[in-house]
Amino acid sequence: MTIEEAKAKLKEGNQAYVKSGRNPGTFERAERERLAREGQHPYACVISCSDSRVVPEHIFSAGLGQLFTIRNAGNVIGVHEIGSCEYAAEHLHVPLIVVLGHTHCGAVEEAFKQAADTHEKQKEDALESPIEEVVREILEVTGEYTDTSAMEIENARAGVEKLRKDPTLARLAADGELAILAAIYDTESGFVRFDI
Ligand SMILES: [Zn+2]
Repeated sequence: MTIEEAKAKLKEGNQAYVKSGRNPGTFERAERERLAREGQHPYACVISCSDSRVVPEHIFSAGLGQLFTIRNAGNVIGVHEIGSCEYAAEHLHVPLIVVLGHTHCGAVEEAFKQAADTHEKQKEDALESPIEEVVREILEVTGEYTDTSAMEIENARAGVEKLRKDPTLARLAADGELAILAAIYDTESGFVRFDI
C-alpha cells in the first residue's frame, strides 16, 4: 500500500466509525489463523495515548493485523517508541506512522497544571516520580503554550519531529517509502483531524 492509500484508508475508516459507532473490522477465528500462518502486514503504525477512550482499531475501523499500535500515557516518544516504529517501518514496511494525540488528555492536562504551578519546590519533588517523567516529556515540548488544546497538538507534532530525526525512519522517508504525520482525535465527536 502507498502512503496516500494508507492515509485514505485511515480517513475512510474513521468516517465509518463516526457514522456507525461500530467496528466492521475482522476479528474472526479464520482471520486470526490466517494471520498466524502468513504473518502480519499492517498498513499503518499508530502511536496513541493509553486513554481508555482512544482505541485505534475502533477509531479507524480496523481488524486484526491491520494496525501496528504503540500506546502510552500522553503518547510521548522515547527510545522504545522509536525502536517500535523502526520495526514497523523497516521490517513490516508500513508506509505511514501517525502520532495520534487526543482532546481531554489527562497527561497533557497534568503538564498544563504543572506549567502553571509557581511553587518551585513542589514542582521539583513531583518531577522525581516515574509518572512525572511522562509529564516532563510533555512539558519539554509544550512549555510555552497556554492552553491544553494547543499543548495536545504541539505534543503530537513534537512526537513526529522526534521520529523524523531517527536515522532509519529519516532514510525511509527520504526514499519516499514512509510518511510520519500528527493527528488529533476528538474524544467527543470521534473525528480524527489530520494535517495538524
Ligand atoms: Zn491522553
